[in-house]
Amino acid sequence: VNYCSECAGPVRLTVPPGDTLPRHVCDACERVFYENPKVVVGTLPVWEDRILLCKRAIEPRLGYWTLPSGFMENGETLEEGAIRETIEESGADVELIRPFAGFSITQVNQVYVLFLARMRHPGVAPGPETETARLVTEAEIPWAEIAFRAVAFCLERFVHARDDATFHLGAAERGPERP
Ligand SMILES: [Zn+2]
Repeated sequence: VNYCSECAGPVRLTVPPGDTLPRHVCDACERVFYENPKVVVGTLPVWEDRILLCKRAIEPRLGYWTLPSGFMENGETLEEGAIRETIEESGADVELIRPFAGFSITQVNQVYVLFLARMRHPGVAPGPETETARLVTEAEIPWAEIAFRAVAFCLERFVHARDDATFHLGAAERGPERP
């Protein structure tokens, strides 16, 4: 942020009165521009003994496998966002079972929220961000080709602790982002 989106005045980084962290503040109108984590929401869709994975058709991590997920939109709930992203990326018709995992990605200021979901039928129709969507058994999960650590965490928890009624919380190690 270099110029104020309200008055086009110059913006500088400073700790506002009563605050504890530096923020971008407009010198002219004193508006404070807060930057906070974004929420990525999605599903781990299950059909019988298989999991739906999507091969990414876009960067980052083009060609790697992920779970259908994406940034929440303003005005929607977590549940609505999870279902919308699942449809957009995979075309899968899902029913949410329960919130399954949360993963903090401090390096890129994102929070991942994944729901366990049941596919109503095995049909898929990948969207433009997905090269292909495939149902795989646990043994077929391509662990070395998973796009993001948050996704690997969710799959690992599913394989080893899906019946725990807990909400699985994880976080990327601090430091440079590594997939
Ligand atoms: Zn301003």
